[in-house]
Amino acid sequence: MEEKDTTQTPPNPPEDEYEKICYICRRPESKAGSMIQMPGNMNLCHDCMQKAFDAVTKSGMDLSQIQNMPYMNLNLNDFANMKLPNTEIPQKKRIKKKSAKAPAPSFNIKDIPAPHKIKSSLDEYVIGQEQAKKVMAVAVYNHYKRVFYKDSPEAPGEEDIRIEKSNILMIGPTGSGKTYLVKTLARLLDVPLAIADATALTEAGYIGDDIESVVSKLLAAADNDVEKAERGIIFIDEIDKIAKKKNTNTRDVSGESVQQELLKLLEGSVVEVPVGSNQKNALTPMATVNTDNILFICGGAFPDLEDIIKQRLNKTSSIGFKAELKDKYDDDPDILSHVVNKDLRTFGMIPEFLGRLPVVVTLQKLTSPMLVEILKRPKNAIVKQYIKLLALDEVKLVFEDEALEWIAREALERETGARALRAIMEEFMLDIMFEVPKDPGIGTVVITRGYLEKNGGPRIEMRG
Ligand code: ADP
Repeated sequence: MEEKDTTQTPPNPPEDEYEKICYICRRPESKAGSMIQMPGNMNLCHDCMQKAFDAVTKSGMDLSQIQNMPYMNLNLNDFANMKLPNTEIPQKKRIKKKSAKAPAPSFNIKDIPAPHKIKSSLDEYVIGQEQAKKVMAVAVYNHYKRVFYKDSPEAPGEEDIRIEKSNILMIGPTGSGKTYLVKTLARLLDVPLAIADATALTEAGYIGDDIESVVSKLLAAADNDVEKAERGIIFIDEIDKIAKKKNTNTRDVSGESVQQELLKLLEGSVVEVPVGSNQKNALTPMATVNTDNILFICGGAFPDLEDIIKQRLNKTSSIGFKAELKDKYDDDPDILSHVVNKDLRTFGMIPEFLGRLPVVVTLQKLTSPMLVEILKRPKNAIVKQYIKLLALDEVKLVFEDEALEWIAREALERETGARALRAIMEEFMLDIMFEVPKDPGIGTVVITRGYLEKNGGPRIEMRG
């Protein structure tokens, strides 16, 4: 049998679009300069190489004598025959090279659709939330206009008008479509998106993810392409959970101080982030990312905010002739839209933090008719998905309107917004998806309200 040659070093990686990383200091070549390639796919930067030599000479070794020392007159080529540990850096930890060409912006203001077009594309997926979609469309359009203007040849001089960054604060109940809106937006604009959870973030040095991990996530979403990441969107969910804690004597490492640390990211700063990991350590290459052009969207349900707004509104209206209006806000379904900066401060957000989120968007609690719409109208509506699945078995699936209304009401009771819809659907569609393919004679299945209420089966019509 042919013996396998185990002494071979792994083949050199092709000269590809990824940067070489120094094996010792882990800096990429864009920072550390050109690399000296060593056997075993190992790269060393000049600094580290120099340090290694210095260390040897300082320790009293005379390099000129090296040839005279037994075992030291090694030919570097001999390494090629030695079995070396695999020093290749995994793909997900590599950094894409910045394009060598002139900094021609790879995307153009013309690539960003006008606000009305963004809004109408959003309409195909997101039901209701008209004001939120409008505000988001304008904010995103302005954000990318600013990015383009800043990087363009007519970039602002000292005396020119500077367009400020317009990060967004999104307030709306659970399951009202906050994450969905941002995801849809990022997909429509074809920019990378990272979704992070504020509850996982803690002040640097404490257990939990540090603030910069959100930028790391975005870099991963952009395939480690720093330029692409710098035009992306970071969505920080559950932002209400980092409100300032009231009456606490202990150090607030996951509330106020996280808000403080987020400030510099939100307004734009240069951060060093580990590539392919959320942990900084000696073995992880680092990339430098400027967050100035990154759009930050912070979202949260802000559970007690409604009461804070009502209290403020009722207080003003109980003075003088407006007194009779007191309590008129109690049943206002859109109370969140009256939010002002002061309410958010009362809630526990610090003023500097709010100052960096100048655009405030509020989403409404979904009503039963909206939930019915969500079931059937969006491009990828749940009902459409099931119809498609059964159509592949050549079976027609029909939902009676009454059945859809029943599902919407049931979802409302669960108080998790549109999130409950899929769970409810799955519960009763399971039997249908299991039974129908058994009988090739079945032509149509009608989901009736009676079936959902467990008063009988679905209406079945046979073929022919
Ligand atoms: P949250 O506001 O808690 O972030 P999500 O965006 O995660 O809620 O919503 C959960 C799911 O509900 C989404 O994936 C989406 O399918 C659906 N959904 C929520 N709101 C809407 C809406 N307004 N239009 C269409 N689908 C929606």
